[in-house]
Amino acid sequence: MDHYDVLIVGAGHGGAQAAIALRQKGFAGSIGMAGEEPELPYERPPLSKDYLAGEKASARMLIRPAAFWDERAVTMLPGRRVIAVDAAAHRVLTADGEAIDYGSLVWAAGGKPRRLSCAGVDLAGVHAMRSRADVDRMTAELPRAERVAVIGGGYIGLEAAAVLRGLGKKVVVLEAMDRVLARVAGAPISTFYAAEHRARGVEIRTGVTVTCIEGADGRATGVRLGDGSIVPADMAIVGIGIVPTVEPLLAAGAAGRDGVDVDGYCRTSLPDIFAIGDCAAHENRFANGARIRLESVQNAHDQANVAAGALTGDARPYAAMPWFWSNQYDLKLQTVGLSIGHDRVVTRGDPAARSFSAIYLKQGRVIALDCVNAVKDYVQGRRLVEARATVAPELLADVSVALKQLTWDAAS
Ligand SMILES: Cc1cc2nc3c(=O)[nH]c(=O)nc-3n(C[C@H](O)[C@H](O)[C@H](O)COP(=O)(O)OP(=O)(O)OC[C@H]3O[C@@H](n4cnc5c(N)ncnc54)[C@H](O)[C@@H]3O)c2cc1C
Repeated sequence: MDHYDVLIVGAGHGGAQAAIALRQKGFAGSIGMAGEEPELPYERPPLSKDYLAGEKASARMLIRPAAFWDERAVTMLPGRRVIAVDAAAHRVLTADGEAIDYGSLVWAAGGKPRRLSCAGVDLAGVHAMRSRADVDRMTAELPRAERVAVIGGGYIGLEAAAVLRGLGKKVVVLEAMDRVLARVAGAPISTFYAAEHRARGVEIRTGVTVTCIEGADGRATGVRLGDGSIVPADMAIVGIGIVPTVEPLLAAGAAGRDGVDVDGYCRTSLPDIFAIGDCAAHENRFANGARIRLESVQNAHDQANVAAGALTGDARPYAAMPWFWSNQYDLKLQTVGLSIGHDRVVTRGDPAARSFSAIYLKQGRVIALDCVNAVKDYVQGRRLVEARATVAPELLADVSVALKQLTWDAAS
């Protein structure tokens, strides 16, 4: 039976960084990385951006080349899905019936695309976008797809819409809430992106519910909405979020509900088991200490470093500043902080000039910025978020004053 001093489950952003950080911190024990996908760890963000557009080769998406893992004695176990964890025995079981023993376990299994719970979701032409295989299936069908319905107006859905429009497809975005990006951004950002998409011919429909995917001969032909109307589509992309992959841990007795609960050092409630990345529900200081999951490369990366630190006698609690990005058309959005619970949004700059920032305040303090083609604001706004600065909204909005010039009363 195989045994690893550290077994990492999930060969994605978090898993890869955990192995990298362990070796950087001088960990000399054996490291195994069991991943459900058949390939080496790769970057996921290009999947809805330049990889979907055909502008980035898969080899360029690898987080590290194959030789890197060999040189650092990280044993890759591709195509190995872990289905059960025996925490007392320090053992996992994989779907192919193998058992692997571990000293410590780092669970970095991310999440699965949330499925629509309606008829027609299994028709050909209905796609999710989580893995490279998902996108490869989609692109293989693209030549014969003229009309694409994107279900879900979040970042991934909108990025896909932008790429597909660029490829000449007729694209409709169907969003259940009253504006796109409603769960992740303030109204000025939603309004701006909806307008940008519409200006390029993407149809954006908000406040609509999907009741089923219509099909003929096993293939999708359209999306039926709550009002009975049908949006014709020969491809549907479902981008309505993820369900964190934690069942084996919860079945083994780990605390958690939406994800698996971890403490400040990414430790689960089970002995010697850590969890990081999209599946780790942690108390985040940028969310006022609320227990949340973050779905971002930043979070996966920084939590991997925290877990590796705890495993190598260099324990430091997770306190990293959240950041995120989204590319749509020629628009580069960069986010710093978390806008959850904001009670005011200040618009800095002119959205019509296609370079502006939304600055989020809570009880008068800066908690986050969404910067569109405004890299200076993104870089300089960071310290405002770090300090939870109290700055008058008029000053934040005044583009003649750089954010780095702003001062505030630290005691306030
Ligand atoms: C299309 C797309 C675009 C994105 N764009 C951005 C972006 O622009 N910016 C940004 O910050 N973030 C973006 N993200 C989010 C970001 O990719 C994730 O937050 C990040 O990948 C999380 O890392 P992770 O290690 O938690 O999970 P993942 O990177 O998803 O890795 C988890 C791995 O675990 C494997 N696995 C699952 N279950 C098991 C099991 N039981 N046994 C073994 N292996 C298992 C999975 O197959 C997967 O390979 C995007 C995500 C997607 C899908």
